[in-house]
Amino acid sequence: MSSYELDLITIGAGSAGVRASRIAAGHGARVAVVEEDRPGGTCVLRGCVPKKLLVYGAQFSAEVEDAVGFGWDDLDPAHNWGDLIATKNKELDRLAGIYTNLINNAGVTVLEGRGVVTGPHSVEVAGQTYTAERILIAVGGWPYMPDIPGLAEHAISSNEALDLPHRPDEVVIFGSGYIAVEFAGIFNGYGATTHLVYRADEPLRGFDSELRTAFAEAAAERGVILHPSTSIAEVTGDDDQKQVTLTDGTILTADVVMAATGRKPMTASLGLEDVGVAMQPNGAIKVDADSQTSVPSIYAIGDVTDRINLTPVAIAEGHAFADTFYGNMPRRADHSNVASAVFSMPPICSVGMSEDEARDTGMTPKVFAASFRAMKNTISGRAEKSLMKLIVDPDTDVVLGAHMMGPDAPEIIQGIAIAIKAGATKADFDATIGIHPTAAEEFVTMRTPR
Ligand code: NDP
Repeated sequence: MSSYELDLITIGAGSAGVRASRIAAGHGARVAVVEEDRPGGTCVLRGCVPKKLLVYGAQFSAEVEDAVGFGWDDLDPAHNWGDLIATKNKELDRLAGIYTNLINNAGVTVLEGRGVVTGPHSVEVAGQTYTAERILIAVGGWPYMPDIPGLAEHAISSNEALDLPHRPDEVVIFGSGYIAVEFAGIFNGYGATTHLVYRADEPLRGFDSELRTAFAEAAAERGVILHPSTSIAEVTGDDDQKQVTLTDGTILTADVVMAATGRKPMTASLGLEDVGVAMQPNGAIKVDADSQTSVPSIYAIGDVTDRINLTPVAIAEGHAFADTFYGNMPRRADHSNVASAVFSMPPICSVGMSEDEARDTGMTPKVFAASFRAMKNTISGRAEKSLMKLIVDPDTDVVLGAHMMGPDAPEIIQGIAIAIKAGATKADFDATIGIHPTAAEEFVTMRTPR
């Protein structure tokens, strides 16, 4: 037994912190988790879950449009925003309750309040100091807004966007990353006039360039008003109406302005600098492959380390940490070939290398691509096309990347991600018989490289 009160104090009861804490406790460790909000963290309370619920609801308007082609007519449904937010919040309450039960049932003590690290083995919470052999930082990230006149004063972040009392009539979204394009789909789907303002020439930096172009076309076709290659110069106005001046001189008016300009690790005033924990310039905690910081007894997992900022990655890091240090099963989270989805409209999903990334390694990859109108759209009349791409190593035939924009892309790519993780070759894809008629079967029927 160590001389500390506890084996582990985790700061942050989000996806990563809860997983690490309860697995460690399951291995027999004495664990406490510190949380100033209710358990759940970004994903459950302010991110993935409420966002996806709003996405589900927003999709119905396009379904109603598509239904007309299938003989449904006189469809003019009204939407009750207040009901939606209330129902969504009820579901979040249920999930936060499940998180609380998971923690309690695992025998983990919850310390309510803000945790501050006061030494390599000590954490202060609500005026009381607790000691542990190890401290695990899992406090996540928080929306960041650039320093632009009027932006911080007038713009909301994704936190507030998930809980607006009224549906905006006209919304300006700033940025074109995951959050920006997902909320563009949400607000547009519920009928708001939606502007997307971004400094790049295409949205979704980092994704395959063809997907980015295809998405911009599809979003515009669905009614999102795109303002590429520009930025916000100034926001003025009052609670009801805002004026947004863009750097290209355009002036937009909107009742809601949303900044989706990235997230920063929440490391400020945690006491970490004082105990010598090394940080990146953006405030992310520097860690090694075992999630250990520069202070040997302090570890960090999830978005606060700014490795791959996705919930399942954070959970994998937390689980590996707990197994390694409390379960006598040393292992590391594997950050290779992690699939990620954008729940935009239409959705996008990617795993592995983009065509550009493959070229950057010096190879000339084989590229198999299909762009087609999904079967449903032949009757619905929707012009939107789906896009699928496979990036293949020309020497080994190994499939290096798979990319899709189109209905159900995240559901489809999850299966493809297993094949890629397992090292499947293009010949393995070719040997797989398709499921007909689906869009997914294109992934096993593309025969001719470009
Ligand atoms: P992203 O990093 O994805 O996008 C940030 C956007 O803000 C980019 O378009 C970027 O432009 C723009 N931006 C940043 N700084 C400025 C600036 N000073 N002026 C103008 N534009 C700026 O961040 P998000 O906030 O969308 O999401 C944060 C992270 O959360 C994601 O990276 C992802 O890891 C995670 N996430 C995952 C989701 C999922 O899995 N479905 C959903 C939501 C979030 P540019 O591209 O030109 O740099």
